[in-house]
Amino acid sequence: MVGCKCIICRLTEMVESEISGKIYNDIMDHMNHCENCSSLYNTFIKTIDLCHNMDKLKLPAKRKKVFHKWVRIEARRIVIKRYRY
Ligand SMILES: [Zn+2]
Repeated sequence: MVGCKCIICRLTEMVESEISGKIYNDIMDHMNHCENCSSLYNTFIKTIDLCHNMDKLKLPAKRKKVFHKWVRIEARRIVIKRYRY
């Protein structure tokens, strides 16, 4: 059984498809039942999409890396605040 905290910790890995197999299925299963986590996931996906659209504007590779890192940190910070972990 996967808890909300686990989902949040794995969110960036999920988005970047670094997770597969049983844990992936467990997480997807949890999100089907948990409104908090599914809305969080959707918000996160949208943020990442924004990133990728910005990539099309040809950010220099160095900046792109920094930006992606910032998004990860920021997203995690917001989540921690929101759910008070
Ligand atoms: Zn949850």
